[in-house]
Amino acid sequence: MISMRKVINLKISHKLGSQLQFFKEKFYSKALDFFFPQPCVYCDAKRISGGPYLCGMCQDAIQFISSSYCYLCGIPANLSYEDSKEKFLCGSCRTKPPVFEKARSLGIHQGVLRKLIHELKYGMRPGVMKEIQPLLEIYFSNRKLKDFYVTPIPLHLKKLEQREFDQAYLIGQKVAEILDLAFLPEVLERTVETQPQASLNKPNRLKNVRGAFRSLNEEKVQSRNILLVDDVFTTGATLNEGARILKQAKANRVYAFSLARAN
Ligand SMILES: [Zn+2]
Ligand SMILES: [Zn+2]
Repeated sequence: MISMRKVINLKISHKLGSQLQFFKEKFYSKALDFFFPQPCVYCDAKRISGGPYLCGMCQDAIQFISSSYCYLCGIPANLSYEDSKEKFLCGSCRTKPPVFEKARSLGIHQGVLRKLIHELKYGMRPGVMKEIQPLLEIYFSNRKLKDFYVTPIPLHLKKLEQREFDQAYLIGQKVAEILDLAFLPEVLERTVETQPQASLNKPNRLKNVRGAFRSLNEEKVQSRNILLVDDVFTTGATLNEGARILKQAKANRVYAFSLARAN
């Protein structure tokens, strides 16, 4: 089953639309853009600069979460929170501390970043990773991590077959490469095909993912620190459940990273 997942991840989708689009997904080049300028996926402007999907202005519009945030779950603090030196702990972590030691996200799940993730996930365009990679490189340039293994939150096999690639896998792979950490995808398996978290309210999100994963190859997890990666952190229920299973398998520390944090 695992090798199948790998094969599917390597496979380039054959559902990419026109020949030109397929060619662009596979061999994106600035020269091609010069002759056939494509509209920016976010603002529709014809792109003369920028990347394979976004114009330069939309690329610049993506903002990183930097100032005060909850030191456990990473949720940005209210702007009225004035003492940035004091460690901020949000209400939700105060009442129910998460299983993971800390969670961080690159940006807020809105605007251009939200659109990029949407194109990657539902537009089935793995080429979007070419826009995401430079963001990850900037984000991690001053956030080094040592002695961690990178594990993506897995999709259910059925969903993987529909989508033909796994966005968290692709993001995790890049994160591992950038941080120069080992990639460890074969330690979690999604055993239950859960409903999309976005369609549920908070209590149902918790219920929805409870028991959704099981651990595989526990000896690979034991006493190791894991950086668990997902595309979007909505309530944190999915990453928290993944962390719970990894801790059951005797993982040491579990940190969570997501590309975007829902607000
Ligand atoms: Zn644009
Ligand atoms: Zn928190």
